[in-house]
Amino acid sequence: MSICLDIAVQTPAHSQVGGLLSYRSAQALPAGQLVRVPLGQREVLGVVWAVRDAMPHDIPASAMREVLGALDNLSPLDEAWRQLVQFSAQYYQRSLGEVALSALPPQLRDLSSLQLARRLKKQNSQRSVQTSPGPVLTPEQTAVLAQMAQGTGPFLLFGSTGSGKTEVYLQAVERMLADDPQAQALIMVPEINLTPQLEQRVQARFGSDAVVSMHSGMTAAQRLKSWLAAHAGHARIVLGTRMAVFASMPHLQLIVVDEEHDPSYKQQEGARYSARDLAVYRGRLHGATVLLASATPSLESWHHSRPPDADGPGGRYQRLLMPSRMGTGQLPKVRRVDMNKQPRRTVLSAPLVAAIQARVERGEQCMLLLNRRGYAPVLHCADCGWKSACPHCSAFRVFHKIDRSLRCHHCGLSERVPRACPDCGNADIAPVGRGTEQLEEHLGGLLGHVLRPDGRPVRIARIDADTTRAKGALESQLAQVHAGEVDILVGTQMIAKGHDFRRITLVAAVNPDTALFSSDFRAPERLFALLMQAAGRAGRDASHSASSEMWVQTFHPTHPLFEALKQHDYPAFAANELAERTAADLPPISHQALLRADARTQEAAQALLNAARAALEAQLAADTASADWALQVRIYPAVPMSLQRVADVERAQMLLESPSRMALQKVLWHLHGVLHQVRHQPEHKGVIRWLVDVDPQAI
Ligand code: ADP
Ligand code: ZN
Ligand code: ZN
Repeated sequence: MSICLDIAVQTPAHSQVGGLLSYRSAQALPAGQLVRVPLGQREVLGVVWAVRDAMPHDIPASAMREVLGALDNLSPLDEAWRQLVQFSAQYYQRSLGEVALSALPPQLRDLSSLQLARRLKKQNSQRSVQTSPGPVLTPEQTAVLAQMAQGTGPFLLFGSTGSGKTEVYLQAVERMLADDPQAQALIMVPEINLTPQLEQRVQARFGSDAVVSMHSGMTAAQRLKSWLAAHAGHARIVLGTRMAVFASMPHLQLIVVDEEHDPSYKQQEGARYSARDLAVYRGRLHGATVLLASATPSLESWHHSRPPDADGPGGRYQRLLMPSRMGTGQLPKVRRVDMNKQPRRTVLSAPLVAAIQARVERGEQCMLLLNRRGYAPVLHCADCGWKSACPHCSAFRVFHKIDRSLRCHHCGLSERVPRACPDCGNADIAPVGRGTEQLEEHLGGLLGHVLRPDGRPVRIARIDADTTRAKGALESQLAQVHAGEVDILVGTQMIAKGHDFRRITLVAAVNPDTALFSSDFRAPERLFALLMQAAGRAGRDASHSASSEMWVQTFHPTHPLFEALKQHDYPAFAANELAERTAADLPPISHQALLRADARTQEAAQALLNAARAALEAQLAADTASADWALQVRIYPAVPMSLQRVADVERAQMLLESPSRMALQKVLWHLHGVLHQVRHQPEHKGVIRWLVDVDPQAI
């Protein structure tokens, strides 16, 4: 006598069957059990999703393949985990099997039962929490924790950088661990390798036994080890990046999403999930408290936590406020330099250069931000107009002086800089615009003669994707800054996030204006968050903070964004931005999804999207039951993506927008079905792939 099980296995991305396959099993296995099953010629890992009451009529039992074995030394994945996976697959329009299997550590797929048993034996089950006492809480921190204890959340903790938010959630974790000897907490951060200090802080607080990490920088073996410890309930705290939202944690009671506004919470390939949004959903499944924290919350979370007012009821999140910075640390004074009044082609204005020099001579550190790496974004021939375009992308190749190369940052093509213009032979081709490499050189020219208080010459360093390519390079460069071996640090946004540089007293944004007029409506939000973060880097050491400064060089000094920055006034910025989004019907007021197609030609890519749109509209019009919600969704015609061609692939997109998330989901569901039909029509042979991005972060 055998029973029938529906099992999730790794299936192709868009397969609509939901990724479940039916297998026979002689043994009764519970839902959530990990098993090995045959798939084609291979043996693969699967998760039992449902146990059927009876054998199906349509498939003869003999035709059904049999489960090869269960990983029965692992307890089944619990229902909350399965619901989380099921929801993610549905919401982000991927197959269940794909989401379920990619949520598990890769090594689980490869190990034999015997190897797994050995790994499990090595796990020390006695993981003790050894909490070291934290500081005495401030009245603000105490009040916030009391509000958390009374409410149900989700909570948005809004407090400036250095206001003690981390301390609040560490205390929340501490109380939870003390109250319940099994309870588990999940702490998510945007990028662990950028904030090793937090990892140390959490371990120092709770003992390294109780804490495991989960992020892509770990080896497969380390990831498995962490996963097993969390799954068994031995690890009491999981500290990880977005992938950790899928960690199996049977006793999950608290989820923290630190720097919740950070775009890296959105996965950009495969299932394009938002770990922040899934954290909120998961909290509900487990009955766990969810705490989102930021000094510059996403407008989504800010909107969801709005208090009730004359216009309507409040949002579904509860907002918690921590306005004061810790100790005597003050926020830096913001100074705007009006670049209209500077000589043409000024890179660094004279007052900024003088301010940097004065700081260096006093033994303080400065940080300069420029969001462009390389020496110059393009090379140009003034005679014939040639520019260093990439032959494979709709982008320019960037000039890197260090190895005299022209590199495309999109497809990776790298060539030596030509001696003369490839079109007309003019030997005088010149860089246009500036990147971090040139800024570093320029600074050397302007300030190279300056001496530090110890009589040694100024030291200038650069940190960006180019200087940190080697493993461990970022860590060692950051360590040099911390050790005070660097006086002026130049870099991209990489250096603005999270680092606790104690002696930095001046931060400057060299050329932030482009984000003000970007075609991406989220660009100002990103810029504001970046500048506030960067400002938060300055003056963290109370002994220096009184005179710390944030400089902004801009051609638009009276822009509301910079006005709000000057006042350190996120709520003012958010109110202004939300008013604009409301007027334009943009998120968070509306909900969006993007359908993307890649093809050899732009026409082919757009043709698929427009054909899908036509078929979808026909289907919805024919179905009277859909009339209500279908009308609430606007489907725009296909357009080229802003970066239209990458590595000879043409990219097009189609936007769907609706005030109702539910209506948008229903339309997407229909669209999915339609795409499967349309995709296989002969006229769309040229299409390479398509994908759906729900709640896209970039338009
Ligand atoms: P945030 O997460 O808001 O940036 P942190 O929690 O990291 O703030 O706190 C900023 C600094 O103040 C840290 O060095 C932290 O150790 C310290 N700190 C936080 N809370 C307290 C407190 N109640 N008493 C003393 N120091 C504190
Ligand atoms: Zn030329
Ligand atoms: Zn390219």
